[in-house]
Amino acid sequence: MIKAKKKFGQNFLKDEIVLDKIIQSMPNDNLIVVEIGPGLGDLTKKLLQHKKVVAFEIDDELCKILRTKFSSEIEKSVLELKCIDVLQHWREKNLLDSSYNLVANLPYYIATKIVLNLIKDNNCQNLIAMLQKEVAYKFCANVGDKEYGALSIFAELIGKRSIVCNVSPKSFTPEPKVTSSVLKIEKQRRLIGDIFKSDKELFKFEQFLKEAFKSPRKTLRKNLSPFPKEVIEAIFTKLQINSNTRPHQLSSLKYLNIFNIITDLTHFEDA
Ligand code: SAM
Repeated sequence: MIKAKKKFGQNFLKDEIVLDKIIQSMPNDNLIVVEIGPGLGDLTKKLLQHKKVVAFEIDDELCKILRTKFSSEIEKSVLELKCIDVLQHWREKNLLDSSYNLVANLPYYIATKIVLNLIKDNNCQNLIAMLQKEVAYKFCANVGDKEYGALSIFAELIGKRSIVCNVSPKSFTPEPKVTSSVLKIEKQRRLIGDIFKSDKELFKFEQFLKEAFKSPRKTLRKNLSPFPKEVIEAIFTKLQINSNTRPHQLSSLKYLNIFNIITDLTHFEDA
């Protein structure tokens, strides 16, 4: 019996009901499924009943087990197993060169980074991912919710967000310390292409949001003080934003509006 490695965030999902809920929530299309962290292959096995799968696994010991377990699927090319750190792969090339859906029980220590990468990756059409509950709810939060922040804004800008189900620690071996949730994002727009012109513009928007949410309890106006005061005042007047507004009280579209005006009126890098 293999010993789960904490450093790789290994909590294996053993609950058949939850596994089936994940499978039922998948979009009804013919796209390849990418799975990050197949682990012992319980989810992979179910995915392979419906789809072609490309799976990324960092742990050599698990890769050996998976190669044996799925030897016939690998031979028939319905499963491609890539034994590599997915983030390293992503830094060097596309996760996949064609359109795909992501379905995975993610390693929590890098889950936020992975979901953000998926949101930015135009090849990813939809994602269904198990995450720590608090993080999943941040991606799903709506304007006015206390969890509403940069993660919610990025997810909201590209499509429809929902929670498929919440999952008790008891559904995993070993049990994680936290409750989990399955997050679903159905993409309706491309972040680069439909919303931002380039990677550079997207990067600037990320910087802008960092400033906007720097101190969530302070007013947005105060958080935006690194930008020229007269510009911020003109924007608040033009967009009829109350000066006491807190960062979580403005919609993603309003943030885009403010960002576009600031970029038009200032040299953003000077902020
Ligand atoms: N999918 C399996 C399941 O549901 O039981 C395992 C999920 S477990 C939470 C996370 C998996 O991600 C582990 O198999 C772990 O080895 C793998 N993993 C962790 N870091 C990774 C990385 N950087 N790249 C690829 N896989 C990674």
